[in-house]
Amino acid sequence: METVKLVADIKAKISKFKDEGKTIGFVPTMGALHKGHLSLTEASVKNNDITVVSIFVNPTQFNNPNDLSTYPRTLEADLEQLSHYNPDLIFIPEVSEIYPEPDTRKFDFGLLDRVMEGKNRPGHFNGVAQVVSKLFDIVNPDNAYFGQKDFQQVAVIKQMTQDLKLNVNIVSCPIIREKDGLAMSSRNLLLSEEQRKNACKISETLFKARNLAAELSVHELKDWVIKEINKNSYLSVEYFEIVNDTSLEEIKDWKELNNKVGCITVQVGKIRLIDNITF
Ligand code: AMP
Repeated sequence: METVKLVADIKAKISKFKDEGKTIGFVPTMGALHKGHLSLTEASVKNNDITVVSIFVNPTQFNNPNDLSTYPRTLEADLEQLSHYNPDLIFIPEVSEIYPEPDTRKFDFGLLDRVMEGKNRPGHFNGVAQVVSKLFDIVNPDNAYFGQKDFQQVAVIKQMTQDLKLNVNIVSCPIIREKDGLAMSSRNLLLSEEQRKNACKISETLFKARNLAAELSVHELKDWVIKEINKNSYLSVEYFEIVNDTSLEEIKDWKELNNKVGCITVQVGKIRLIDNITF
């Protein structure tokens, strides 16, 4: 496992691997790694000759400056954890390496960027598309690994890959959860002990909702989830939407013939946590 900081260096190394006919798997992360990130790394190492993991807290995807400044950074522990999974290259660029000049590109993802996280975090997915397209250009991966925890992000990245005609296969991997069900997230580190204890109510409610879907209409179920979570004084639901898992259009009736996913964002104090469940 080798760490690389410069774009020119990682490009040279990858170009050599490509010349040797090796496949490249890529796992983009913002660090503060947990088992969710490690599961993506494991999948990449298993299915590619070479795995590149990037650790880069991308400023352009933070619409809230306080969220950027408090985002956890645990590089030493990250490298220690990664060393157990045998990735080949860890790319840890400075902001100036990725953005030598400001990135002024504007992407248009239509509805994918107008609902849920797109609506509530203006500019977020544009920033994600900026950094992921730059990283794809640098790493030139055959396969890139993303977590379903960030469900809407996967939809946006698939669309971006198609729009830019990139030759990258996007692999979407299952959500990894804590023992009590809470979706693993770097932001969980920012919760107080009490907030952390109460946060498992989010996934608990989503799991119950999956069972209740047979009895309640879509509208009733949405209301039930929001009320149930808001009963907990530590939690405040920002939105809960049940959508078509590809177009992200709102589902109005269970009879609609497409895969359905319920996506939620909850404020726990100042921390925003997201999760989702398939129906
Ligand atoms: P982040 O460091 O939060 O930008 O996440 C990097 C990648 O890890 C993204 O593709 C996330 O969707 C994925 N990821 C984050 N949390 C989890 C989780 N609990 N399970 C699976 N993948 C995750």
